Amino acid sequence: MTARAEALGVALRPHLKTAKSVAVAGLATAAGAKGITVSTLAEAAYFAGHGFRDILYAVGCAPAKLDDVAALDRRAGMTLLIDSVVAAEAVAAHPHAYRVLIEIDTGDHRCGIAPDSPELLAVARAVEASGRSRVAGVLTHAGHSYDARDAESMARIAEAERAGAVRAAEILRAAGFESPVVSVGSTPTATFARNLSGATEMRPGVYMFGDLFQAGIGTCRVEDIALSVLATVIGHRPAENAVVIDAGALALSKDRSTEAIAGGDLGYGVVCDLDGRPLPGVIVSRVSQEHGRVTSRDPLPFASLPIGARVRVLPNHACITAAAHDVYHVVAGGLSVESVWDRCRGW
Ligand code: PLP
Repeated sequence: MTARAEALGVALRPHLKTAKSVAVAGLATAAGAKGITVSTLAEAAYFAGHGFRDILYAVGCAPAKLDDVAALDRRAGMTLLIDSVVAAEAVAAHPHAYRVLIEIDTGDHRCGIAPDSPELLAVARAVEASGRSRVAGVLTHAGHSYDARDAESMARIAEAERAGAVRAAEILRAAGFESPVVSVGSTPTATFARNLSGATEMRPGVYMFGDLFQAGIGTCRVEDIALSVLATVIGHRPAENAVVIDAGALALSKDRSTEAIAGGDLGYGVVCDLDGRPLPGVIVSRVSQEHGRVTSRDPLPFASLPIGARVRVLPNHACITAAAHDVYHVVAGGLSVESVWDRCRGW
């Protein structure tokens, strides 16, 4: 991803909401990155405590969090994100001088202001009204790239993401707001963008692990997925061609995102051997809190899945699955743990 950012002429500001891990952040930034992106203040504090600097908090900042952001800014350098006049007024009223990005909606319709909306300049004026805080630029996230299913569509969405963000920055600059930063990026758009001219940085995150949904839409291959949940066979139901494992909704998550991929529904995850090789057609098709029901269209290989056997389950959505776990056990295959990497949790 560092090489892609370089080729596209932008800085990489990896989003650490997926991994929430200093060790992974070290790998993601090793080849050159400009700061990091986080989605919670718990992540910001965790990474700041481990020496990371220049942290972008890329979720709209609630006014009640401004004191904490100010403290983190003094410690590590923070940029915050807003998309309303009300939030901008809270920022301006605060005694701290914040660096502020304005969130732009380039088609995802989750948050953000349309580039041509008069609200854009209203927010910028409100941010700078007291002369302390500054508009540092714009941010957009093309989350709707997750609806695309081929490289061409993702490249088209990447272009809409780029063009919308650049347009918004130009409007701000024309009105006298310096706005040096144009921040774009999701894993699909970062992977398939052809041109990012005018953007200054991109913020992909889930590419660090990949998952079954990303493999389904083509940003990685199943064999690239770097995250699995280790589970144990605890029951056999031969009459139902089913095996029960001790990993259910909490260990795997209830994410069903692969359901949206035509012909690619993988239940709650793909069952693999201990080395991470998928057992063909074997998936977790039902979960309760601590149970996973493993089934297949073909007869299950019961003999190679005795009670007590260990399996690995590849997740639909790495960010959500990882969030339930305290640490990563780093393996090169099998069960031998080479390192234990901690991660942060909570908000
Ligand atoms: N930027 C923002 C604001 C996000 O919300 C996300 C993910 O949700 C990302 C970047 C990273 O995108 P991805 O998870 O596709 O790598």
